[in-house]
Amino acid sequence: MTNDPHAFGSLVFTDAQMQSRLPEDIYRALKKTMQLGTHLELEVAESVAKALKDWAIEKGATHFTHWFQPMTGITAEKHDSFLAPTKEGRMILEFSGRELLRGEPDASSFPAGGLRVTSAARGYTVWDITSYPFIKDGTLCIPAVFCSYHGEALDKKTPLLRSMEALNRQALRIMRLLGNTTVQRVITTVGSEQEYFLIDKELYLKRPDLVLTGRTLFSARPPKGHELHDHYLTSLKPRVSAFMRELEAELWKLGVPAKTKHNEVAPAQHELAPIFSIVNIACDHNQLTMELMKNIAAKHGLACLLHERPFAGINGSGKHINWSLATDTGINLLDPGERPYENIQFLLFLTAVIKAVDEYQELLRASAASAGNDLRLGANEAPPPIVSIFLGEELTEILTAWETGAPYRSERPRLMEVGASVLPHIPKDTADRNRTSPFAFTGNKFEFRMLGSAFSIAEPNIVLNTAVAEVLREFADHLERASDVESELSSLIRQTIRQHKRIIFNGNNYSAGWVQEATRRGLAVLKTTVDALPAWVAPKSIALFTRHQVLTEPEIRSRYQIYLENYCKTLQIEALTMADLVKKEIVPACIDYQNELIHLLKSKKTCGEFECGLEKRFLGQIASLSAALLNKLDLLEKTLAEGSSENDALAEARFYRDQVCGAMSELRLVIDELERLVAKKHWRLPTYAEMLFSVN
Ligand code: ADP
Ligand code: MG
Repeated sequence: MTNDPHAFGSLVFTDAQMQSRLPEDIYRALKKTMQLGTHLELEVAESVAKALKDWAIEKGATHFTHWFQPMTGITAEKHDSFLAPTKEGRMILEFSGRELLRGEPDASSFPAGGLRVTSAARGYTVWDITSYPFIKDGTLCIPAVFCSYHGEALDKKTPLLRSMEALNRQALRIMRLLGNTTVQRVITTVGSEQEYFLIDKELYLKRPDLVLTGRTLFSARPPKGHELHDHYLTSLKPRVSAFMRELEAELWKLGVPAKTKHNEVAPAQHELAPIFSIVNIACDHNQLTMELMKNIAAKHGLACLLHERPFAGINGSGKHINWSLATDTGINLLDPGERPYENIQFLLFLTAVIKAVDEYQELLRASAASAGNDLRLGANEAPPPIVSIFLGEELTEILTAWETGAPYRSERPRLMEVGASVLPHIPKDTADRNRTSPFAFTGNKFEFRMLGSAFSIAEPNIVLNTAVAEVLREFADHLERASDVESELSSLIRQTIRQHKRIIFNGNNYSAGWVQEATRRGLAVLKTTVDALPAWVAPKSIALFTRHQVLTEPEIRSRYQIYLENYCKTLQIEALTMADLVKKEIVPACIDYQNELIHLLKSKKTCGEFECGLEKRFLGQIASLSAALLNKLDLLEKTLAEGSSENDALAEARFYRDQVCGAMSELRLVIDELERLVAKKHWRLPTYAEMLFSVN
């Protein structure tokens, strides 16, 4: 099915809807608030609420909700009916300006990292006017931010919006210094590629570890994985294709233009990429995409897995953030243009990003840290846990020429040699692809590839926006003081390249030598979440976020607490699920198989090596593996029962990483051996091969 162009955004209260349904003065007031962040009068809100309600009811909506993004990383909603009783006892359809502007969902159960204990328990949702309302499942969803009684951010959206403002402020200063007087706004554009797995729903439901933790906690590797690369970019299986068509059509109605879809490297793995948009909307859209993926999969008898590593030994899933800067006049500030060597504006913004990534590399790494992503980063299909930048040959040559003052060979149009005279010559991109790099320049944008598939894209964008804002601030401060801006610009670019070129690495990030080389260069190698998270509360990070009013110190500290708690809880749930499954599934399977073998042995009249060799051999193996199983189960349960001896969140996270994960790995080895040994009829849990090759 091709998507009907008229259906695009049909469930979104778009600008066109606003314009046609609102009185002109109200529309103008609303646009002013959207674009300049000015205060919205209640009277305007009343008028918008009425138009919004009429539109939503025409579209069949019966309820409304503020739709927000608390620190759980997913979205939240609390539906209220449009129906309201009158004094006379009748029911009328109502939706006021006040209800549009603000909600109080209570929502006291969301993680707040101590913020709401110290201030107040109330949480408010406030309409995020910059993102359009939409209808989902018969409910009018009003994108909202979520904050405490005192206005502290309790969500991911508030600091994202603040970081966009910070970046805009500083980038405009630079544009003016470059002599541009027309640009009114600089925004971040983002396109997020989303990887996911699809497996059969029935098999999924038979794996409580998948249901409860999102990943398989054990199971032997299948005889076949992605070795033959016979899944990557192959044609879609009919069930997958039907799922993708429906997903795209639904996303289309919600104004999310899914552009590319294809099979990924691992069996049962796929990817979807929308066309990029302004970052806050990209963030909303990615949340909607993940939610719809799960719901639509269920309708097709499928389960969509968004975990970073659902199957050990099989490629995991990431989320790539394509990131660039654009002006309201339509210029991509990271577009090198025809002659990048002479393009001062491009070079200034490029070097600003290089400096920002180098100076805040730990923070960027921390923005991609989670228990799930620890299983993926550095495992030869995702970047290692070291932030570096890939620029490609041509840009690196240009920067080197700038740094050393050496002449740069003339910029000739570069043509790609495809090797056959009948084929046309294709203009060469300024950068080749380097799929191993965590932060790669890809023509006119950067692609941050560290993020795990289940993440909200908010954090890395908050970090990138704010870090780049800070560098632009430093540049602007410096240039505004200069008597000769033009010559100062050149020396600023040169100096920035010299000081931050250590972050540029065009080689293979998967190679063993890179870790040593990165260490030699002084880059941060932060292997696990526990190593990475403290970057959030480093004095430098606190200074960054507070200076640009993106997060206050209490907000940063509360987030740090939430990330640590989330890490510990995730691992605790995994460990408990594993122990439970051993007792409920693995031990009974072993006993059944053991009994069957004993029964067979007993039924035989003679039991020499010839008659009973097989049974005896398998019984022996079962006995020794079962003993090891119980031993390792005891170790895991004892570790959990004793818990961490220290009363500090970071120490507790360290305990989970070192003790609990260690005990889980040891237990897993034994279970995987048993799975290979025990007869299928006794092993009721679906295997990797069954799950990965289940969908046709
Ligand atoms: P690949 O898989 O080769 O990285 P895709 O075509 O799958 O490339 O994805 C590229 C993504 O980058 C798309 O989401 C696209 O919309 C996005 N993109 C393109 N240009 C920009 C830009 N200027 N700013 C942000 N994102 C962009
Ligand atoms: Mg990509």
